[in-house]
Amino acid sequence: MNYETVIGLEVHVELKTEAKVFCGCAARFGSEPNTHVCPGCLGMPGALPVLNKKAVELCIKAGLALQCRIAPFSRFDRKQYFYPDLPQAYQITQDDLPLCTGGKLKIVNPGGEERIIRINRIHLEEEAGRTYHSGIGATGYSLLDFNRSGLALIEIVTEPDLRSPAEARIFLEKLQEILRYVEVSDCKMEEGSFRCDANISVHPAGSQEFGRRMELKNLNSFKAIQAALAYEENRLGSLLAAGTPPVQEESRGWDETRGMTFFMRPKEKASDYRYFPDPDLPPLVIAEEWVEKIREDLPELPEEKKNRYMKEYGLSAQDADLLGGSRETAEFFEATLRLYPGEAKTVANWVMGEFARLLNLEKLTPAQSKLKPEALAAMLQMIDAGEISGKIAKTVFEEMFYSGKSPREIVEEKGLVQISDESQLAALVRGILAKHPGPVADYRAGKTKALGFLVGQVMKETKGKANPGLVNKLLREELEK
Ligand SMILES: [Zn+2]
Repeated sequence: MNYETVIGLEVHVELKTEAKVFCGCAARFGSEPNTHVCPGCLGMPGALPVLNKKAVELCIKAGLALQCRIAPFSRFDRKQYFYPDLPQAYQITQDDLPLCTGGKLKIVNPGGEERIIRINRIHLEEEAGRTYHSGIGATGYSLLDFNRSGLALIEIVTEPDLRSPAEARIFLEKLQEILRYVEVSDCKMEEGSFRCDANISVHPAGSQEFGRRMELKNLNSFKAIQAALAYEENRLGSLLAAGTPPVQEESRGWDETRGMTFFMRPKEKASDYRYFPDPDLPPLVIAEEWVEKIREDLPELPEEKKNRYMKEYGLSAQDADLLGGSRETAEFFEATLRLYPGEAKTVANWVMGEFARLLNLEKLTPAQSKLKPEALAAMLQMIDAGEISGKIAKTVFEEMFYSGKSPREIVEEKGLVQISDESQLAALVRGILAKHPGPVADYRAGKTKALGFLVGQVMKETKGKANPGLVNKLLREELEK
């Protein structure tokens, strides 16, 4: 029997705010434990929440980037449960009236098919603290760090529109790309600022009814998400095939080392949390003008950018995708292009080639690099003017990358100027021909391949500095005399 898989995602994203969402404590990752705390985010009696406007703005920004409707009226609720890292014993979140609803994100699945994944909602909430468990049983203990307690968080909930683990992964990568683009979050999975729970069910193909849902928790890499979903897809398929479908909805964890999911607890229902409107916070009323202002300030989104690169610069879809995928890369590419009047494809090749290679090697982003668009543009102009060869340019580029010097400085310091002096090269060419009578005879006998060898010899002699076009021309002239 054939089965169909249905996947929906809940993505938690920490917002890039200076302060926490309901108090003035600094929102910083990696500080000493419990150094960014106050009575508010420690849940002391009597402390009152004050909403951070920047957090609301970033939530709206995320909503607009994902084509959501922004609610003019929304509300904060208390979600009540006990956990040691939740000092108030409730989390302030949004239940029935979220800030953003009804968005969508387009992906292209592994089969090359375009798919629209609907976003059910995006709501604003606060982060819990962090528990560090050490040891087990009576000998173990746990440590609590409340620096994270009260950080501004959004939860993005998709409709169950994804149909395979691979689609889920592609969606998440795309979502991360967009949220970074609009600077809502740094979306670092390894630091926990981008986290995902996945709901999955499997049913016989053609059936109108979805299977029982399993919620996979604590998936902390794209690889883990795809692997856990694939495992669960298989497990649920086997249960159906054996005629023993799951009897309840479950929350399940992912065991990375064993490569399998495991039962944690039956899935809790919304009613278990006894949501009710937070009496300490007034309803959130958003002026339309503010939303429009945020919309106007949104940067060009990756999708629009890629289309423009293809149309305006004639780049291939793949190149446009690579360049447009990260905002910093796109900005570097465009800034260089503004200074360099030549082909966009030439700039694209350097940015995607040598630049990407060195950035990767040094684990830097384009903005962190010492190499600036001005330097790349100047170097490309020197190539065009015949001052340096393409081969030498690679050396110059690497030197610019590490030292931040201008290409002219480097070329002068290292004596890398291309030899384009015809009489100097002609003498060199004659010398090489005299040294290699064999290939010369070959060439004259019609084996034109010998020319490549001779060009190579001249380049070697000049350490790559000879103008290759000129060397070719001079060699031919001499050989055909
Ligand atoms: Zn605080």
